[in-house]
Amino acid sequence: MNQQIYLDNAATTKIADAVKAEMEPYLKENYGNASTSYSIGAEAKKAVEKAREIIAETLSAKPSEIYFTSGGSESDNWAIKGVAGDNKKKGCHIITSSIEHHAVLNSCEYLERLGYHVSYLKPDRNGMISPEVIQDALRPDTTLITIMYGNNEVGTVEPISQIGKIARNHGVVFHTDAVQAYAQIPLSMMQIPVDLLSASSHKFHGPKGVGFLYVREGVNIPSFIHGGGQERGKRAGTENVAGIVGMGKAAELAHINMRRRIQKEMMLRNYLIERVLHEIPNVRLNGHPTMRLPGNVNFSFKGIEGGSLLILLEEDGICASGGSACNTDGGRISYVIKELDVEEAYAPGTIRLTLCGDTTKAEINATIASLKRNVARLTL
Ligand SMILES: *Cc1c(COP(=O)(O)O)cnc(C)c1O
Repeated sequence: MNQQIYLDNAATTKIADAVKAEMEPYLKENYGNASTSYSIGAEAKKAVEKAREIIAETLSAKPSEIYFTSGGSESDNWAIKGVAGDNKKKGCHIITSSIEHHAVLNSCEYLERLGYHVSYLKPDRNGMISPEVIQDALRPDTTLITIMYGNNEVGTVEPISQIGKIARNHGVVFHTDAVQAYAQIPLSMMQIPVDLLSASSHKFHGPKGVGFLYVREGVNIPSFIHGGGQERGKRAGTENVAGIVGMGKAAELAHINMRRRIQKEMMLRNYLIERVLHEIPNVRLNGHPTMRLPGNVNFSFKGIEGGSLLILLEEDGICASGGSACNTDGGRISYVIKELDVEEAYAPGTIRLTLCGDTTKAEINATIASLKRNVARLTL
């Protein structure tokens, strides 16, 4: 079999053809520096500002609230280290969860080494961080709450609005890593009480190495990359014009017919979940049964090694993963799965399948057939 079925869209996505086409002029004739005044520079500047407007509109935000970065990791680092550093006199306590992406966890651990105190809250068995647990963790010296919008491994969508209200009531800055949620589900900054939001282009069919941080008007965070005056003096460095233009196009495409795409994705996802749960014995679905990202599926199969299953899936042309692409500790069981208290017999047999808008029913049928055959083979 030489078909390729790509079900690892939470790790990265294929760049859309229309995105590539939109970027091309800025890799060729419009190579000017966006901070210069002659025409090829002015063209680049115009394109960067157009992308900023498109992205702001998708969030019901203002263009002045969008800052371009090199991706989700930089946005998370900036938000967390920026708020913590700026509020040091007020307090040194940060609230986060134990199932955040490493960009958040490792930023927090770095701050701990500098003397900050961090509460890593444990989710429930569905991966949900309860607003009550956040409320109980608040201290007079808490200055930042950072909770992800949607979990990259198990897909659980967190109660961000409720958490944001708690943060607001206590005058605490609230950051959310929305890398898995932005451009996947509708987000309105008019409705969601978040102060800072991270997103990354390559998770929604844009180019790699570019992202943004939304900073609500009135919230002040210091510059993270010091240098020139780009991004209104908040993020130095010659703009990644082609990358930003590509991200703008990808954001625009993602928000055209978004609801219809979500419906289609969820239908296929639910079909995959239901058939696997019914047709393969001893399997469990990880993450919240309903409050989950439209494209996320995470299964644990009893008594097998997820790594062995991934190799067999790959032989059938199926790209999936054992959880996060960023699990560098070489651990057999992901830290997220551990935090969800998945039973010992099941935890090692965990795999993640993440769909996108282009995933077809034929691909899902082929995946189910491959899973059935290969899980049976491994459980012999
Ligand atoms: C991918 C991802 C990141 C990192 O984004 P990059 O652009 O790859 O740096 C951060 N958080 C979450 C939840 C992610 O899925």
